[in-house]
Amino acid sequence: SVLTRVPQVVGAGLPVPVPGGSVPYANLDHAASAPCLEAVQEAVVRALPAYSSVHRGAGYASQVTTRAYETARETVRDFLGGPEAVVFTRNTTDALNLLAGAVPEGTSVVVFESEHHATLLPWRNAVRLPVPASPGAALADAEQALRQCPAGPRLLVVTAASNVTGELWPIAELAEIAHRHGARIAVDAAQLVPHRPLDARGLDYVAFSGHKLYAPFGAGVLAGRADWLRAADPYLRGGGASSHVGDGVRWAADPEQRHEAGTPNVLGAVALAAACATLAAGWDTVAEHERRLLERLQAGLADLPGVRELSLWGLEHPRVGIVAFTVDGHAPRAVAERLSAEHGIGVRDGRFCAHPLVRHLVGGAAGEGCAEGDTAIRASIGLGTVDEHVDRLLEALAAICDG
Ligand code: PMP
Repeated sequence: SVLTRVPQVVGAGLPVPVPGGSVPYANLDHAASAPCLEAVQEAVVRALPAYSSVHRGAGYASQVTTRAYETARETVRDFLGGPEAVVFTRNTTDALNLLAGAVPEGTSVVVFESEHHATLLPWRNAVRLPVPASPGAALADAEQALRQCPAGPRLLVVTAASNVTGELWPIAELAEIAHRHGARIAVDAAQLVPHRPLDARGLDYVAFSGHKLYAPFGAGVLAGRADWLRAADPYLRGGGASSHVGDGVRWAADPEQRHEAGTPNVLGAVALAAACATLAAGWDTVAEHERRLLERLQAGLADLPGVRELSLWGLEHPRVGIVAFTVDGHAPRAVAERLSAEHGIGVRDGRFCAHPLVRHLVGGAAGEGCAEGDTAIRASIGLGTVDEHVDRLLEALAAICDG
């Protein structure tokens, strides 16, 4: 089916107490965790009556649940263009740590220091590249670093869309460069997949989280090539990952089995797959909704003297529905607290688990009277956002700037 209207989220209109009454919650924090889609809620409710452990049960409910779990895996595989392996994890952090443990001994890893900590930190002995001044610099720096890697396996790790500024990274070009230098590329797609289709066919590994994709917490994905995953030690040791246990252990050859020891999060996988299927049926509708709201938000912020939108590569650079900004003379934490307490608006403030990037973007210049010199405010939109939320944020910021 093809969607003709924006998929609806659960909990829209949640009343928030403000002085003198209540207002419907304006959730401008989709990038942290997105609200659940109605279609996702329905899929979970449908799966609940046949709730039983997967893979090892002969009982009817076990068979139904096993089918639901494996169908979810195939839905995710389709969503990504058919990668060899689709391993369910807890979230993006878990997926990238799994991959970090699965790279062959001696792999040279290259990563930009502007990344989210989930992408930056899991690797042993990674070469860290400075925050690139332009997309072209990102390509040149990656190429030079990969060229200088010692012989042996190489991996470039990069985020598809920044969780701080929303800016899109030149993933296809970076993949081409990586492959030209005999390297693989792993892409943190946590902030891309809620907003844009991702064809992972040109990429070696992709990681993302269900809770940013309009599904509940607790399920994520590592997808990609099977060989390293097949050869690596299991991420967790235990039941399901082992194919034979006697005096020794033979680990399952299948990468999904090998790295999914223990009872998996079946309902999380079902939910995540329902979100994938819903978005895949309506990318045009989703993209148009976000394009319109983002334009409204960016234009409104640009009109507010004292509000500075942050950007790595310029405000014209394409981005998903995430904007980070500072307000002259006001600490980000104080602004975020006022937006919540006085206007029922949810934004995030801080360093967004990307300390080097936020330090680079804000420096010490967040304005006088600002105690937190290297933090910012982030507003992020998605399917739960309506025009009124954006307008309320802009009016509230205008009042804060005036006050
Ligand atoms: N990468 C990016 C780009 C993110 O935005 C986030 C979440 N803020 C993560 C990784 C980590 O995701 P999770 O907390 O779900 O593991």
